[in-house]
Amino acid sequence: MTPRRRPLVAGNWKMHHGGSTGVELATEVVRLAPSLLHVDLVIAPPFTALAACAHECDGSRVEVAGQNMHPKDSGAFTGEVSPRMLLDAGCTWVILGHSERRQHFGESDAFVAEKIAAALAAGLRPIACVGETLAEREAGRTLAVVERQVRAFLPALAASSRPAAIAYEPVWAIGTGKNAGPAEAQEVHAAIRAWLQAASMELASDTRILYGGSVKLDNARDLLASPDVDGALVGGASLDAASFGGIARAAEALSTS
Ligand code: PEP
Repeated sequence: MTPRRRPLVAGNWKMHHGGSTGVELATEVVRLAPSLLHVDLVIAPPFTALAACAHECDGSRVEVAGQNMHPKDSGAFTGEVSPRMLLDAGCTWVILGHSERRQHFGESDAFVAEKIAAALAAGLRPIACVGETLAEREAGRTLAVVERQVRAFLPALAASSRPAAIAYEPVWAIGTGKNAGPAEAQEVHAAIRAWLQAASMELASDTRILYGGSVKLDNARDLLASPDVDGALVGGASLDAASFGGIARAAEALSTS
């Protein structure tokens, strides 16, 4: 049996906890880390809390991610943040191509791929998000849509030696309380692994493929147990340290069993 990859559990705080409550939440996650030695933990606070949360995580095993980024180094891009700015704030990861960015801010596959290449070049590890809408799933187009999204950024991943993560997040499962069943998730994760493998065996084995979409304490174990599910990108449940810790503990238990 292929050994499991080290799990990665990342919390996407979205537009919550951008000030002192974010620092408190980061402190609580830092306190959980010593009991979670076999899981990589990442938190993604809003931009306004990144530096303070990174300061709080300093010296711990908790890493910090931006939730978005502009691909350019600097310039007249009002409201945007560059890869270097995320690094300066203490980030080591960045979530890119989240479906909320694609849906509400019109981010195309090509723009997401440009951001992923820029993040890797700057020294950040991307969590590249992909996933189909409910209409696309119902039309039987899940794998075609996800393949199109992955193929757009595959050359950037293949050209870099920096390991990245991909998050499969069915859009219909984000923040809705619905989630793909373990078999549905595994089918898409295995397909993503195969596309990576066609580019390089190393890429396929080094890239962690996370599941995201209403991951909670009560469904985490089943979702994380699938062979190609290497962790979770958690939205709502990451806003509570106990829930986030419970999901990470489920990943830890599977990786040590
Ligand atoms: C997300 O925002 O990436 C996410 C998966 O959200 P939720 O867990 O709330 O569905």
